[in-house]
Amino acid sequence: MCQPRSTMAKRHQQSLLSTLTLLLLSLSLLSATPQDDRYQQEQDSPITRFQHYLRINTAHPNPNYTAAISFLKSQAQHHHLQTLTLEFTPNKSILLLTWPGSNPSLPSILLNSHLDSVPAEPSKWVHPPFAAVRSDDGKIFARGAQDDKCIGMQYLEAIRNLQAENFVPVRTIHVLYVPDEEIGGLDGWAKLVASREFEELNVGFVLDEGQASPGDEFRVFYADRSPWGLVIKAKGMPGHGSRMFDNGAMENLMKSVEVMSKFRESQFDVVKAGLAANSEVISVNPVYMKAGIPSPTGFVMNMQPSEAEAGFDVRLPPTADPDLLKKRIADEWAPATRNMTYQIIEKGPIRDYTGRPLMTLTNDSNPWWSVFKQAITAVGGKLAKPEILPSTTDARFIRQMGIPALGFSPMKNIPILLHDHNEFLKDTIYLNGIKVYESLISSLSSYGGASL
Ligand SMILES: [Zn+2]
Repeated sequence: MCQPRSTMAKRHQQSLLSTLTLLLLSLSLLSATPQDDRYQQEQDSPITRFQHYLRINTAHPNPNYTAAISFLKSQAQHHHLQTLTLEFTPNKSILLLTWPGSNPSLPSILLNSHLDSVPAEPSKWVHPPFAAVRSDDGKIFARGAQDDKCIGMQYLEAIRNLQAENFVPVRTIHVLYVPDEEIGGLDGWAKLVASREFEELNVGFVLDEGQASPGDEFRVFYADRSPWGLVIKAKGMPGHGSRMFDNGAMENLMKSVEVMSKFRESQFDVVKAGLAANSEVISVNPVYMKAGIPSPTGFVMNMQPSEAEAGFDVRLPPTADPDLLKKRIADEWAPATRNMTYQIIEKGPIRDYTGRPLMTLTNDSNPWWSVFKQAITAVGGKLAKPEILPSTTDARFIRQMGIPALGFSPMKNIPILLHDHNEFLKDTIYLNGIKVYESLISSLSSYGGASL
């Protein structure tokens, strides 16, 4: 259908007008006004830089390490930090940023964080997990907001502020970003500690991730528990379901489960009585059981199987004796006398290279501890009693080298949301954390003075 000429001309005029308006609008945006300056500042602030990092999806199983590293490299260039990318496994780079100290021969300070995060289920979140939405009350929602992209950016912001004050570190500061912490660190820290490049860093002290504190005190961790995967297997004569006989596979396995449950109870009782924290005892939790003869409708009910198996997640605090536990497993939990075998999958070291338990001393015999404590107090922070982390971090690889390492993430008065839905960090807590790191970096890097 054809339109009358006059209408078409009018339309033409209108579209010309709107093009002009758009052109003028873009021109006005290009010319700088005080208001625009403010706009620019908002575009590049500690909070927006944090949001930018959070928006890079580094969740497993497909973490975008390349994008994260290129963003961090661009930040490092602003701070005139030296950058080095190490690749021990293809597509799993490690980024090392270095701020050289005035006395580079002194043992250095290393600030560690991991690039990756656990996956998120978007449907269970109030905001998309990789949008880093900041709510009106200052909550920044994102996977990694607490674990642990916050510290990765706070290290850099603290360095930026110290540089603005012309602070010069005595000891060299290294800031490290590693892949794969959330999946065991075998392609990250495990390979790094074994490298010549790491040896050359001459690391004296490490700060690694900790955990949020719902109370008014910062939490600090001096050890991790060591995880073991324990699989016990029982074998026995198969038989008709109606028969009663000794040493059947199921019977043998169930006897073990009973003994292990008693041990678990004895450990848990200590926790329930308030005599130890959860992370200070050996935990033994059943995670699977496998037995039975499958049938199209489920399992054959009139057969006693000849094999049965169970898996346990075992966690050892550094104070536990691994040899003693191994003996207990061999003698009581899976004894050969009951036709049982077992397999222990040790996920990481238990002792350091000199044979000492993997823990960092938190008393005055460790000078780094004293410097750490004073630096927190200097910015008005309070520290809770040092703890063992119930789970595991990359710090175990560092402590294995005999290097003191503390787990610390400066977040207080906030729920613990690592690996949870709706993980968030408040902007004020994030900004305060930068101040805490300024104090820590300046104290730790000056410790001992230039004369050492
Ligand atoms: Zn973490």
